[in-house]
Amino acid sequence: MQSSKQLYDNLLQQITAYESQEAKEIVFWLMDFYLGIKKIDILSDKSFEKAIDWTNIIERLNNNEPIQYILGETEFYGRRFLVNNSVLIPRPETEELVKYIVDKQKNQFPVISNQLSILDIGTGSGCIAISIAKELPNFKVSAYDISKKALETAKKNAELNKADVTFEKIDILKPSFIHSLIQYPLRHSFNIIVSNPPYVMKQEIDRMQKNVLDFEPHLALFVEDSEPLIFFHAIANFAFNNLTDNGLVAVEINEALGEETANVFRRKGFSKVEIIKDIHQKDRFVSAVLHKKDGK
Ligand code: GLN
Repeated sequence: MQSSKQLYDNLLQQITAYESQEAKEIVFWLMDFYLGIKKIDILSDKSFEKAIDWTNIIERLNNNEPIQYILGETEFYGRRFLVNNSVLIPRPETEELVKYIVDKQKNQFPVISNQLSILDIGTGSGCIAISIAKELPNFKVSAYDISKKALETAKKNAELNKADVTFEKIDILKPSFIHSLIQYPLRHSFNIIVSNPPYVMKQEIDRMQKNVLDFEPHLALFVEDSEPLIFFHAIANFAFNNLTDNGLVAVEINEALGEETANVFRRKGFSKVEIIKDIHQKDRFVSAVLHKKDGK
């Protein structure tokens, strides 16, 4: 029999890479994940028997590896998602983007129909697409990503969450692809396009934490300083050609580039272009509506 209080103190002492509050959260997380011991059990010093070898786990934590990669999973919008270093760890801001879509579609498409469709560009772990598939069962959900490994993870997450999502390996920046869609604009058409594309400028590397920088996929994070809006231009072009009339596009953005990103959509001819703040009052999302002249 071992004491959960003792283990808590012991683990806390060994985790040196985090400041005290964060280290405490990590210990709670570890004890729950590996032993099913909750905070309340630690308070009442519940005893347990299972032996865990913590050496490797502590070593990885102290090497700044994110706990989500060590555990191989995280939670997003109330569901479990597998994560590994081929995908970004889903962020709370992105949960706000899902919430925005879930709420917004009620006004945007008030008539319940089976025909609605949504595309997630750069799906990564699949967290946006899968959450939407679960929350909005009348939507047909598609998701693109350039990375084969990310798509493998996203597919596993769709299975894990019993979500029906069609995944495709597509590079949104590839001109030939965009070109083919301009030629065949009716090949796909979506009521909503959503994306959390790479938007961190390389010049921002200094402000980034080691656990992000050293472990998360740079492919999913970074853009060149000379072209920080490259993905938003591609998404705006793609959305212009592939949204239905009154279709909605909503993207997560770099907080430093709110107006600039909104302008990409304004210039392309979108209406109702809005910059939306996240819970920390930072410019975090842009949403826009496409009104087509021919109404189709
Ligand atoms: N918000 C993430 C970060 O700053 C970046 C996500 C992204 O580039 N799409 O770590």
